[in-house]
Amino acid sequence: MTPEFERALSQYAELIVKIGLNVQPGQRLLIRAPLEAAPLVRQVTIHAYQAGAHLVDVIWADPQLLRIRFQHAPRNSFAEHSDWGWKAGLETVDAGGAILSINGTDPDLLKGIDPGLIATVQRTESRAALPLSKRISADAINWCVVGYATAAWAAKVFPDMAPGEQLNRLWDAIFSTIRLDTPDPLAAWEAHNEDLTRRAAYLNEKQYDALRYTGPGTDLTVGLPENHHWIGGPAPTAIGISNVANLPTEEVFTAPHRERVDGTVRATMPLNLRGNLIENFSLSFSNGRVTNVSAEKGEALLRSQIEMDDGASRLGEVALVPHSSAISHAGILFYNTLYDENASSHLALGRAYRNCIAGLADAGDETFMAHGGNLSANHLDFMVGSGEIDIDGITADGTREPLMRQGEWAY
Ligand code: ZN
Ligand code: ZN
Repeated sequence: MTPEFERALSQYAELIVKIGLNVQPGQRLLIRAPLEAAPLVRQVTIHAYQAGAHLVDVIWADPQLLRIRFQHAPRNSFAEHSDWGWKAGLETVDAGGAILSINGTDPDLLKGIDPGLIATVQRTESRAALPLSKRISADAINWCVVGYATAAWAAKVFPDMAPGEQLNRLWDAIFSTIRLDTPDPLAAWEAHNEDLTRRAAYLNEKQYDALRYTGPGTDLTVGLPENHHWIGGPAPTAIGISNVANLPTEEVFTAPHRERVDGTVRATMPLNLRGNLIENFSLSFSNGRVTNVSAEKGEALLRSQIEMDDGASRLGEVALVPHSSAISHAGILFYNTLYDENASSHLALGRAYRNCIAGLADAGDETFMAHGGNLSANHLDFMVGSGEIDIDGITADGTREPLMRQGEWAY
């Protein structure tokens, strides 16, 4: 590790602790991280204690073990799961602690593995994680998801470079998405957060009845629930500490109405699902439900995702990202949703965030659904933004107001 890299990693850790998590004196912090991310985990731990954290715990993971399980475990064993990992998360939430998740998975990790088995494990894990994911998606505590460049991931993103160069290039790209290449990254984030907050406030004030997307292969109307709440930049949590849940983040997002989505949307970027690529796909909706799926590549996998449960065939997130965002500008396909979704306006099939409908953060499932919120074990983001997409806000009386023109903010 060069001294420059060590310094950058320390700056990254400081951003995570101060801007992403906003760790407070006396808080606990639970970190989930792959083994390769140990250098960042150590830096985050230093900065967390400096911010006054009382206890930092780590759950280490080796992503390769998941592939090994698919290759060697008995075929009838994939609905088996253990709860201790999720319980550790719940213990942290109950103690008012913060949670950091670091991801750096090889996009090709599960290449060639049966999509049916992957869906079974995903469904099982999502169900087991539900008590925790519910609390986190309701912003019970301050939490954050960040990335860590790994050799396998870098090789996927920059296949034509020498192996030594790949990792450096991916780090450069990651550091630039989180504004470490600016003279004062903390100040840059404060300004950026202010901009996102202002955009979300404008949309919250407008309370559009629906959004209308038009572009090549796309003509889609996405109804929005009454009292929907747009979030951009820092969001308040139940324990009064605001956090930025993803670093980087360029999006302003809310929950669509689970029963009021109609028309067709064409994805503008391929979707990588654990090493399996879904390419050039379109989805048609009627009364909120997917009625038609077509994909040039990976159609069976896409269908297995949509058929995971009832809510997996409906939308749970609508997010606006300008085509000229810092990440889009890099022109890199990261094969990692954390980065790719911040390069493009996107939608997600499946679970909605509970804090996206005002007053329902702690509501029961029935109430949340009755107000248009979607529930599912799945949350699958896909990109729909491009320099060719126009988005209008439709007011209650049917007036159309421009929100985005050719992929850029129009207000
Ligand atoms: Zn999003
Ligand atoms: Zn999402």
